[in-house]
Amino acid sequence: MTRFAFDPPATACLPITGSDDMFPVRRIYCIGKNYVAHIHEMNADERDPPVIFMKPADALVPGGGTIPYPVFTENLHYEGELVVALKSGGYDIAEADAESHIFGYAVGLDMTRRDHQAAALAKGLPWEVTKAFDQSAPVGPITRVEDVGHVTDAGIRLSVNGETRQDANINLMIWNTKEIIARLSQQHRLTAGDIIMTGTPAGVGAVVTGDVIDLGVDGLAPLHVAIGARAA
Ligand code: MN
Repeated sequence: MTRFAFDPPATACLPITGSDDMFPVRRIYCIGKNYVAHIHEMNADERDPPVIFMKPADALVPGGGTIPYPVFTENLHYEGELVVALKSGGYDIAEADAESHIFGYAVGLDMTRRDHQAAALAKGLPWEVTKAFDQSAPVGPITRVEDVGHVTDAGIRLSVNGETRQDANINLMIWNTKEIIARLSQQHRLTAGDIIMTGTPAGVGAVVTGDVIDLGVDGLAPLHVAIGARAA
């Protein structure tokens, strides 16, 4: 039996609606620039393919709640997204087989230090500082495929303090979920426990201490996140 020098970090996990089991999370993959209207609001080129990046699993905030306003930013943005959770994987998965690897779906927030993203883009620097910070991935409970089917045509809505900011449909994704799994698996061996944030529609914006964010996708458990005081 392996002896550790100190207690290993806890496994990041998500609750599953209708089950006492938890979903153990291995990796958080993210898709960027996957809705044309969001590309336009970011002044980017819609002809460029969507981009792939990651957040660390310990950035998860399972089920939402209050998160501190992060250190090292003056422009914290929300991005409401559909999250796909995998029960199996592999390399080079065919689009036709992609849905067979899906355990379920959730809603999640790709919290972003937008000020540092602008600098990273301008200088060609890595994205960890803008996307992969602590508590940057609040994700709601997973709804299993057997309970909801596959989420391909569903409204996605995000409000801040009760005011609608994002209102779109999952069917507007440039790469749909099957294409995302196929393309991602050409670059990385996907496994059970991987989750994928599938990109945000238009309407992203800043939040400050005291704001509350509500995110929903038709058929899935909603997510509620409050922005607390600045992290110490
Ligand atoms: Mn995003």
